[in-house]
Amino acid sequence: MQKRLLLTPGPTMVPPEVASAEAQPIIHHRAPEFIPILKRVQEGLQYLFQTSNPIAVLTSSGTGAMESALTGVCSPGDKVITIEGGKFGQRWGLIAEAFGMNAVREEIEWGTAIQPDQVKELLSQNPDTKAVCITHCETSTGVLTDVKAIAEVVSKSDALLLVDAVSSLGAEELRMDDWNIDVVVTGSQKAIMLPPGLAFVAVNKRTQERISQSKSPSYYLSLKTHLKSLAKTSTPYTPAVSLILALDKALEMIKKEGLENIWKRHARLSKAIQAGCGAIGLEIFSQQPSHVVTPLKVPEGIDGAAIPKMLRDEYGVTIAGGQAHLKGKIIRIATLGYAADFDATTGICALELALKKLGLKFEEGAGIKAALKALSE
Ligand code: PMP
Repeated sequence: MQKRLLLTPGPTMVPPEVASAEAQPIIHHRAPEFIPILKRVQEGLQYLFQTSNPIAVLTSSGTGAMESALTGVCSPGDKVITIEGGKFGQRWGLIAEAFGMNAVREEIEWGTAIQPDQVKELLSQNPDTKAVCITHCETSTGVLTDVKAIAEVVSKSDALLLVDAVSSLGAEELRMDDWNIDVVVTGSQKAIMLPPGLAFVAVNKRTQERISQSKSPSYYLSLKTHLKSLAKTSTPYTPAVSLILALDKALEMIKKEGLENIWKRHARLSKAIQAGCGAIGLEIFSQQPSHVVTPLKVPEGIDGAAIPKMLRDEYGVTIAGGQAHLKGKIIRIATLGYAADFDATTGICALELALKKLGLKFEEGAGIKAALKALSE
């Protein structure tokens, strides 16, 4: 028997209450009984996004929400600045190019975060920019971007700010309205504690005015179509009814715990992971680390790909490896969504056992001792 633990930055573990909600009998999505559920879900999402704006619920993964958002507000030929410090920042650039936009793809070193002054400079060099696309937590590097400060810069221009908060919404502080963010997108399989399959696009007033002008081709993910249905508390196509029932439950749990407490929990657990890993000699990879996922450099002489494999196959603990050129060079451990103290400690224990087997020299038990100390502070 092997008990499995998911310590990846998505998909994440699903609480039993949410899984049971998902197993309820199917409701017809055009039946009157579905309307109060959609209403409740919308209110719950507005709390999660910290906004009074509408939030389109798409049947897709997070990338669908990115595509829907960008094609919803920009047309072919429009200038779009994409900040690319990792795999997901690059995705903004690739979507913009796929739809014929004029993408100014600003590459920054992986592991670093773009600074507000750099965005200011880019906007002054490109005054005709229609949208700036950034990533709140760049999951491939673990970097957290100061979205609040960047929104302050972008909101003074004519460009819209599109924030990919796929891995961070519900884990890190993000206040869409107070921070003046135009568009926020996220997915279901991260801090929201659902299985993969739903994605969300929240749009403010300034953005809603721009949507009617977009000439980008789109159909299923058309933001205009989704927002039109949403105004009638409906969905344009058959939604993933079971996932919406599960979402209703997850949002109830989020409200009950309270967003600020959830942000604190994520901070606490990631500090325990950082402390535990630090004590056995693992170094953090990124310069501005998030509480979403902890990226760690693979120690010299250790096979980077073997660490996640051994954790998964021998101890039932799934963590993530590095992506693209970071493959084999970093590992990523997340306590995202439905995670508590002893998920973090189990992760550290398994990591100690695996690294010992792989030949790393360190004081046995130092990691778990440091993690427990961090948790008790
Ligand atoms: N953006 C970020 C920051 C992500 O972490 C992910 C998923 N790892 C995505 C976008 C893409 O989402 P999906 O895989 O759900 O399409």
